Amino acid sequence: MEQMILKGAELIRSSKNILVFTGAGISTESGIPDFRSPGGIWSRYNPSDFYLDNIISSESSRIKYWQMSCEYYQVMKKALPNPAHLALKRLEDTGRLSAIVTQNIDRLHHRAGHSPDRIIEIHGTAFLVSCLSCGEIYERDEIEERISTGEMPPYCGKCSGILKPATISFGQAMPEKEMNEAIMLAMQCDLCIVLGSSLVVYPAASIPEYAVDSGAGLIIINRDGTPLDHKADVVVNDSISKIMQAMV
Ligand code: ZN
Repeated sequence: MEQMILKGAELIRSSKNILVFTGAGISTESGIPDFRSPGGIWSRYNPSDFYLDNIISSESSRIKYWQMSCEYYQVMKKALPNPAHLALKRLEDTGRLSAIVTQNIDRLHHRAGHSPDRIIEIHGTAFLVSCLSCGEIYERDEIEERISTGEMPPYCGKCSGILKPATISFGQAMPEKEMNEAIMLAMQCDLCIVLGSSLVVYPAASIPEYAVDSGAGLIIINRDGTPLDHKADVVVNDSISKIMQAMV
């Protein structure tokens, strides 16, 4: 382990263009439960209510979806960046960080103080709400307030269309602009650091693959093994906060 931390630190020191890829594991260390973990918020709902087709076609699915989402949003809103997020901010301050590509929708990287244009949210954000008909964007808190006065499910104030948190749901296409940007940065970076992602959700998980296949180094810090471990220079299965603090 000590050896791996030293090797990771040396890779970071000798790199000029680092791409960080983060998943749920970095947020669980801020107290945000992994969506899919047993006993999590999800296990009390029927996942079929969360498919885009059902959110659009069935008002009862939409209500269930909003109930789950509101519950989850309150947890995310209260969470704070942890030492792993803060270590990434220090990395940005050294001028070595090109971008953070995140699967997380909780804005913890923003709240750690990064320049917002360095953060690519490939699964969207829970902090905005969009209209599926006219594309109008609302602040989440504004919609939460309407829900708290009994407007459930909420509709667009402009066109009465269906409102949905600006996250990527099951059955919904990945945002093209963000994915293209992430892939381009992956092909240009000299080091990719994966934090808290099991790298099984595609196409998101392909981003570190683009980096390695273009000749970049790879560091993976995750609780469990990943399908890309065999291509990595450094793999540590431990707390992301602990290891990132030490490495950076
Ligand atoms: Zn609308």
